[in-house]
Amino acid sequence: MNIHHWTGADRRFRVFASPASWIEGASVAQLRLLAGRRGFLSAAAMADLHPGHKGPVGCAIETEGVIHPDLVGTDIGCGMALFALDIEQRQLHIDKAFKALHGLHEAVDAGDRAHQAAIAPDYAPGMGTVGGGNHFVELQVLDDRADEAACDAHGLRRGALFLLVHTGSRSLGPEVLERHGVGERGLDLQSPEGIAYLADHDRAVAFAAANRKLLAETAASLVRGNARLITDQPHNFVEPRPGGRVLHRKGAAPADRGLSPLPGSRGAQSHLLLPEAGPGEALASLPHGAGRKRDRAGMSDRAKDGDRPPRANPLGNRIICADRRMAAEEAPDAYKNIARVLADVEEAGLARSIARFRPIVTFKT
Ligand code: 5GP
Ligand code: MN
Ligand code: MN
Repeated sequence: MNIHHWTGADRRFRVFASPASWIEGASVAQLRLLAGRRGFLSAAAMADLHPGHKGPVGCAIETEGVIHPDLVGTDIGCGMALFALDIEQRQLHIDKAFKALHGLHEAVDAGDRAHQAAIAPDYAPGMGTVGGGNHFVELQVLDDRADEAACDAHGLRRGALFLLVHTGSRSLGPEVLERHGVGERGLDLQSPEGIAYLADHDRAVAFAAANRKLLAETAASLVRGNARLITDQPHNFVEPRPGGRVLHRKGAAPADRGLSPLPGSRGAQSHLLLPEAGPGEALASLPHGAGRKRDRAGMSDRAKDGDRPPRANPLGNRIICADRRMAAEEAPDAYKNIARVLADVEEAGLARSIARFRPIVTFKT
């Protein structure tokens, strides 16, 4: 296995990336700082690792019975959901679809609010909205099937259209973190505080998944199709594990819940991963995307200076994004090379790609 392991003397830190992959030193330094956290056992980082707010993004962290809500962060339940549409690319009128998908800007109606009330009764706004930054709804076409049998088994046809939805719990997640805000001490899994956090956390996770489903159904109806869920995987959440351990996923998808989307960027292909047994050191985790290569400030400064014009969209998909600064911050070259990240995943035996998807229309708010 030709994989870089920054293990430390005691193998507590593991980075599943080859020496050829670009892993920023600052993110590894952040990883090592996690050792100071109460109850820390070990951390597994994926090839999409990059610096984050209270620790690096793209890793799983295991503790001995301590929940660290601040590591999961504000966007509890953020994740990626892939839906198949009952439409082929050749049936799609691209100009009409592009115009129709602007309708996502005002997608919430009364019926959806009832849906939302059932999940989070004391919480009103947000359901049916995508949210800014890296969140998106993307219309894609399946353009390559690496594993024909696996694709057949899941009804994934070449030339068929799909929706990939990336969003989270909107303002519910930040509310939950604030309500249980405990600084860096964390909460004991078995304590009343720990149990109370987990209950609110689980509602935010459910809210986020329902939000992805609602957005997919709305987008599907805008292009006159129906959405069928293929898989939905959160990448920001905490999970009690056997033996009283607690697993935190901070921008890492689970490898033990079936198929997992691996998005590239709005200028690169995405993949659908079939997890493999993988080494236990990976803490049953997968990358959740390509990972940032350049931070937002760096990207928007460049846009301001105009030193380099934003690169033309290499895959020719259309972008719906009213916010020009954000469009610049989220440009394809803000992200790592998805082919390299995928190679790392496959070389480490974590998963393999069964299908590849090309973006057609990317919606960001
Ligand atoms: P997060 O923001 O949750 O840390 O990661 C989101 C991941 O989604 C990024 O690492 C990147 O690979 C991917 N991504 C960001 N923007 C887009 C987009 O517009 N389209 C697609 N297909 N992927 C994106
Ligand atoms: Mn998010
Ligand atoms: Mn996310």
